[in-house]
Amino acid sequence: MSLAQGRSYLAIPGPSIMPDAVLRAMHRASPNIYEGELHALTDSLIPDLKAVARTAGDVAIYIGNGHAAWEASVANLCKRGDTVLVLATGRFGHGWADMARGLGVAVEVLDFGQTDAVDLDKVAEVLRADTAGRIKAVMVCHTDTSTGVRNDVKGLRATLDATGHDGLLMVDCMASLGCDTFEMDDWGVDVMVAGCQKGLMTPAGLAFVFFNARAAGRQNAEVSSWWNWTPRAHPQMFFQYSNGTAPTHHLYGLRAALDMIMAEGLEHVWARHATLSRALWAACEAWGAEGPLRLNIKDAALRSHSVTSVGMGPGQGDALRHWCEHQAGLTLGIGLGREPADAWFRIGHMGHVNAQMILGCLATIEAGLIACDIPHAPGGIRAAAEVIAAG
Ligand SMILES: *Cc1c(COP(=O)(O)O)cnc(C)c1O
Repeated sequence: MSLAQGRSYLAIPGPSIMPDAVLRAMHRASPNIYEGELHALTDSLIPDLKAVARTAGDVAIYIGNGHAAWEASVANLCKRGDTVLVLATGRFGHGWADMARGLGVAVEVLDFGQTDAVDLDKVAEVLRADTAGRIKAVMVCHTDTSTGVRNDVKGLRATLDATGHDGLLMVDCMASLGCDTFEMDDWGVDVMVAGCQKGLMTPAGLAFVFFNARAAGRQNAEVSSWWNWTPRAHPQMFFQYSNGTAPTHHLYGLRAALDMIMAEGLEHVWARHATLSRALWAACEAWGAEGPLRLNIKDAALRSHSVTSVGMGPGQGDALRHWCEHQAGLTLGIGLGREPADAWFRIGHMGHVNAQMILGCLATIEAGLIACDIPHAPGGIRAAAEVIAAG
């Protein structure tokens, strides 16, 4: 018998759960885009976006998703024939690389596989060998959403500095912004790209490129007016003259989402994600003591606090996802970029999530493991509950 009726739970790694406050803020008639409230509201977003990114630099807002942010970042910095270095730790690094290739940029990829973080020593080797300064930028995902790995961005800056390499450091925080600790200025990140539909809890449709003065000084003079980040860093221009109609309702939704983050406090948001992640990992580790279930990233220090990738036997990931969705109203993420993909599933735990949601999600997964006859040790829920109880 299906028990899926009632409020369903979307636990995929983006789009994430939309808070009622965000939905309510968007439920309104079209506003005047030429003057009035929308301008004040947009102005108010800028300092809060920068606070979430921990930067005093600029932010350009686009109508678009994460792919748009990828293109915007490359278009503003690279001409055809330039070279960039992409550090891939899963599918999304390759996606950014493809985007750059499509723009005529020569892309060198260092691929660290599907179960590991970036190896800084290998990066240092490549950077040291680049004595001609061919590499304009080093591009990396903070969290790669396919593998659930979290890369050491601060360490990467130290590697660039130690090798004396002058390339820009560009980071994709699509899955980590507003979830995992990230310090754009302190960590020496030059460019950071993100979207609004993950940690920022707003429907897909806004893309952000944060950039510092160093990156601004290296802007590609031939960037198109649509991608050019300079007018977009000044929102009145963005709305009225240069770039067309504002993403009106998304701006209202984002305002509500940022209000929630500010009211909670960014550091508390990070700590909440960290604790909920530990609960989730504890359950998986307990289940995996007998049977095929395993966390993709072995070292807890390298795991994302917003998405977790879990492997089992062939077909078992799909079976579990199917059961959870149709019998219990819980939607889990698909295995992405894995062979075979149906052995994997992912849990999104980003943004508007709390302890009871994570415990409900885990208990539903445990029921699914039983229903699908997937061998596992008991005690997963107990282990998660102990993490939650300890705070
Ligand atoms: C989601 C995601 C993207 C792509 O975002 P879209 O909005 O789907 O284009 C890129 N990078 C990472 C790390 C992501 O998690």
